[in-house]
Amino acid sequence: MTRRVLVLNAGSSSLKYRLLDGGTGVAEASGTVERIGEDTGTLTHSVGGQDHTEERRVTDFEDALRSALDAFERHGPAIDRDHLAAVGHRVVHGGDLFADPVVVDDHLLATVEDLVPLAPLHNPANLEGLRVARRLFPDVPQVAVFDTAFHQSMPEHAYTYAVPLAWREEHRIRRYGFHGTSYAFVSRRAAELLDRPVEETNLVVLHLGNGASAAAIRGGHSVDTSMGLTPLEGLVMGTRSGDLDPAIHGHLHREVGWSLDEIDRALYRESGLRGLSGVNDFRELTRRMGAGDETARLAFDVYAYRVRKYVGAYYAALGELHAVVFTGGVGQHSPDLRAAALAGLDRLGIVLDPARNDARTNEARAVSAEDSEVAVLVVPTDEEWEIARQALAVVHGSD
Ligand code: ADP
Repeated sequence: MTRRVLVLNAGSSSLKYRLLDGGTGVAEASGTVERIGEDTGTLTHSVGGQDHTEERRVTDFEDALRSALDAFERHGPAIDRDHLAAVGHRVVHGGDLFADPVVVDDHLLATVEDLVPLAPLHNPANLEGLRVARRLFPDVPQVAVFDTAFHQSMPEHAYTYAVPLAWREEHRIRRYGFHGTSYAFVSRRAAELLDRPVEETNLVVLHLGNGASAAAIRGGHSVDTSMGLTPLEGLVMGTRSGDLDPAIHGHLHREVGWSLDEIDRALYRESGLRGLSGVNDFRELTRRMGAGDETARLAFDVYAYRVRKYVGAYYAALGELHAVVFTGGVGQHSPDLRAAALAGLDRLGIVLDPARNDARTNEARAVSAEDSEVAVLVVPTDEEWEIARQALAVVHGSD
């Protein structure tokens, strides 16, 4: 039975792809098509440790996927369509309709379309990816894997905002959460590292990438998460504010005269680390901080303090905690951030081992002290493998 899966992640102007073995996670090739629809686009196809990059105009998603398939033909490996088990698609918003991955059909497309108002930036691109892939691979099952699905297990008291009933019933205003495929992958790997059944493992997972969120996970199921209706709420991110007083929108609109779109844009693209320090890249931020830049220092402190508050909140939500888990580019690679976020939490049973925390490796590992009651883990995430795994499970009818 073939286990090869092509995973597609269609963004607003980019397409990321990876061909992999859904059983082992081994990637045979991967690539990115960027600046779709602009005058010059870029395609980078990586295979066997080599990057093949070319610049050309890419008109739309169909052109992008055709260009990717062309790169497979020229640089390998050949995609044998008859032996592709599935195409797995990342779909950002599944609302409260999908707790599991789904095989794509016309009805599914209409449903994802209906959810566009909840994710106007992401779902239209994801939809386009689904439509194009169906046209180009008519005989291969297409599976939609939703970022929100993992959090459908949240209890009502955690996902409900304290707003009027009509908002909640008529406009679907509630917390949905994102980064679900990452949490699914990381929580399983963390339980393996702890040598505990995932069903008996309580975790606070911190996914700190360009976007960032935290989740409280009990027995492999999300019980709370920091992103809400949209991926704006919660932690400080590269360019997004995370939590703020909801009255700020109205205040700026009335007092300064900015439109809601202008304010939204600033909160999504010009806030977070960028708003605080001018840079959204964490590596550059830490470099500047090392050189004595005070605004970079403040940005780091605000970021770390927000992470710390969520660790405390989710520890309380869970009652009992086995591990705090860091993942995403920042979580995996910044010992300084991990140390700042968890400093002085000994009384909560959380104690880092400085040497382990500082060690540079890409392996999943414990970075806590031997006698730390709560383990601290660093677990590299792999969302593509998780999407492939889930797509295979649906297609083969098993998990
Ligand atoms: P995405 O959310 O787009 O998948 P990543 O998970 O790759 O992004 O995270 C990107 C972030 O990780 C960037 O802010 C980047 O600076 C940060 N990062 C990557 N490597 C390091 C490092 N060695 N030290 C500190 N931060 C890093």
